[in-house]
Amino acid sequence: RSGTADMPALGSLGPAGPDPVPAGAIGTGAQVEVGDPGVITMYYQPQVCIATGEVVGVEALLRWRHPRRGMVDPEELIRVAEQSAVMRLLTRRVVDDVVTQLARWSAAGSTLRAALNVSVRDLHTGEIAEQIADRLTRHGVRPERLQLEITEGALMADPRRVLDTISKLHRIGVAIALDDFGTGYSSLQHLRRLPLSEVKVDRSFVLGMADDSDDAAIVRSMIELAGALGLRVVAEGVEDERTWRLLHAAGCDVAQGWFFARPMPADELTAWLARYRPVRPTGVTRTRSRR
Ligand code: C2E
Ligand code: MG
Ligand code: MG
Ligand code: MG
Repeated sequence: RSGTADMPALGSLGPAGPDPVPAGAIGTGAQVEVGDPGVITMYYQPQVCIATGEVVGVEALLRWRHPRRGMVDPEELIRVAEQSAVMRLLTRRVVDDVVTQLARWSAAGSTLRAALNVSVRDLHTGEIAEQIADRLTRHGVRPERLQLEITEGALMADPRRVLDTISKLHRIGVAIALDDFGTGYSSLQHLRRLPLSEVKVDRSFVLGMADDSDDAAIVRSMIELAGALGLRVVAEGVEDERTWRLLHAAGCDVAQGWFFARPMPADELTAWLARYRPVRPTGVTRTRSRR
């Protein structure tokens, strides 16, 4: 497989993370001349418990800094990567980086949890489950500290094989979250059939909820539904205080968004955590209380 001018060649994805990955370690060793492919790094965005203001975890998000194009939207990178073997390699890199990072945080005395995103094709073989189990063992990281975010798109493609892979991970203790909840086609079936511990309300609903009563109503019902099924609810795309207060009133468990922090590199996150003081809503009555 060869790279194109705008895709990193297989051998060129590293170094990027805290641990430079030697070219040969992630690819077939095939080197393709693409000029400078830039660097791929993981950024981490805090997730905050709405009731206590404590940081309960982070989501790992891929960033590609291209020498000419600057930061490339991960959605664009992933769309291209999914059409080739590059996606598998990217995901391997993400798993390696995130588990390594979890081990670092442990060594520094933190029990922070991290969620990583997987793409549709990653779940069609059991390979990712094996890789994750292997990395966790190798780095001595407890599976409970890792979470996988899957999208409904992934489930549509081949539900049986996807369910198989997810179940394997669930059995070893890795938590599973349904991402972009509300944007797929058969959300309710998935809630019933999958070993989920969390749903993430898609940011398209959350972004609108302060100004649009329909969006607000949709978010409230999603929170209600997930809560009734015993699932933790995370709202992503929380950009302002008003939205955060609405979510608190609606009984949402966790918020993630620019109101708290943007995604940032691991070292910046460490500094951010050291400065962070829990943000707690005051003067808000919750409509109901959960957990
Ligand atoms: P996602 O998993 O739904 O990630 C949440 C997205 O919301 C992230 O976009 C995050 O930066 C953005 N976000 C968080 N808070 C706010 C906010 O307050 N306002 C707004 N407007 N946006 C906010 P990002 O980082 O651009 O990632 C986009 C998507 O790319 C992700 O959506 C995920 O589907 C995919 N992605 C990112 N990293 C990876 C990865 O490592 N592997 C895979 N397979 N997909 C990834
Ligand atoms: Mg996600
Ligand atoms: Mg999402
Ligand atoms: Mg998305």
